[in-house]
Amino acid sequence: MKRLHLRTTMSLVFALLVAITVCLVSILSSTFINREFEEYVKLTQKKQADDLAESIGGHYDKSGGGFNIDYVHGMGMYALQDGFIIRLYDEDGKLLWDAENHDMALCHEMMDTITLRMQENRPELNGEFVTYSYDLEAGEKQTGKLEISYYTPYYMDENDFQFIHALNRILSLAGGVSLFVAVLLGVLLARRITKPISGVISATKKISEGDYGVIVDANLKERETYELAEAVNHMAASLKEQEYLRRQLTGDIAHELRTPVTNISSYMEMMIDDVMEPTQERLKSCYDELSRLSGLITDLERLESAESGRINLNKEDVELLSLSETILQGFETGIHEKNIDARVSGEETHICADRGRISQVIVNLLSNALKYTDENGKITISVKKQKYNAELVVEDTGIGISKEEQERVFERFYRTDKSRTRKTGGAGIGLSIAKAIVQAHGGTIHCESESGTGSRFIVTLPIS
Ligand code: ADP
Repeated sequence: MKRLHLRTTMSLVFALLVAITVCLVSILSSTFINREFEEYVKLTQKKQADDLAESIGGHYDKSGGGFNIDYVHGMGMYALQDGFIIRLYDEDGKLLWDAENHDMALCHEMMDTITLRMQENRPELNGEFVTYSYDLEAGEKQTGKLEISYYTPYYMDENDFQFIHALNRILSLAGGVSLFVAVLLGVLLARRITKPISGVISATKKISEGDYGVIVDANLKERETYELAEAVNHMAASLKEQEYLRRQLTGDIAHELRTPVTNISSYMEMMIDDVMEPTQERLKSCYDELSRLSGLITDLERLESAESGRINLNKEDVELLSLSETILQGFETGIHEKNIDARVSGEETHICADRGRISQVIVNLLSNALKYTDENGKITISVKKQKYNAELVVEDTGIGISKEEQERVFERFYRTDKSRTRKTGGAGIGLSIAKAIVQAHGGTIHCESESGTGSRFIVTLPIS
């Protein structure tokens, strides 16, 4: 299917709307102005005829002189120029002056010209010459009768028609110019709106091809297009980050697997080749490496299930204080070996959570505290009830974590330099698992620490 450009559709719709509006406005204003003008002409002609009758009636000589025929003649000839044919009768009905009798040729020429012009320009009027009769009076006395014939309902001369045509031309011109300007503006507007969309389209195409470095210009005035550009930039940045983490994860897993596998295979090879005796001790060492591998695989599985979002929480009532005490007892041997002062403090706090997974969080935090705290150190687990949350803090007096690394320790496989130099360091997954579990419960986890003086891991979990 051939698809139109958004720009074309918008321009067409805009042009159509403006064309309809301009046509409507032109037609309405032209009709209205024409009608008003015709009405004005009609009234003016009626008034002209009334004025004529009044003027001739006013020139009656009451002292017996009757009508001033010279004056009537002058008025009659003058009125003829304007399209009025007059006939004057005295009070007995005797014809005193008649424009037609006076200059029949001129009268007929004038009537034909007006009729022809009006039929050409206003055929719908079906106009004709109509005679109107005026009784002329002086005081109480009837002095005569004046008949005035003119083209009815109205007539217009050449100048009037020229005026009307000029007006219509101006209106059409104004309509045409505004249509042109509006279409131009419409095209510019459409272009302005679609330009960032085109930018977004080309950026998303590049992203789909794996180029996450693209940046859409978000310097836009319209809120929606600005938000669109920002969203795409954000998406590109997080895809880049994901891609980086994915690569790092693959590298880290390979690195973590390589050491035990290499150790086991070199031991095995030497034992098979009889270079080395398969002593109890060597077999134990292989077994330890295998245990490490198996532990790593278990950790990876846990991490996958905690981070996949598919995490199924079997929620029940969990009391954090007694749970922490029970877990601490499980670390008794390690604590004892390092002569660490470990204790649980705080108040009884019930939350609705998955007991197994929350235990995993506490185990991970506690085992880290134990790993990274030297002999004769101190570990405290404190539990506190807040309005909506429970707060669990695992604090130690161990090696601590530098400010820069405090955020990063929750990343998968991240281990601080200090921990790498220690034999005790794990694979760097424990805190990622803890974070994923806490987040799945709608809680938060963060770390406060000073290098060399110890660390505090603070977990908040919603009560219900
Ligand atoms: P690991 O298995 O290496 O302990 P974690 O994800 O549990 O992995 O921890 C990540 C890193 O954070 C550790 O390698 C260590 O460098 C640092 N870390 C975690 N807990 C502590 C702590 N209590 N004191 C000092 N460093 C810690």
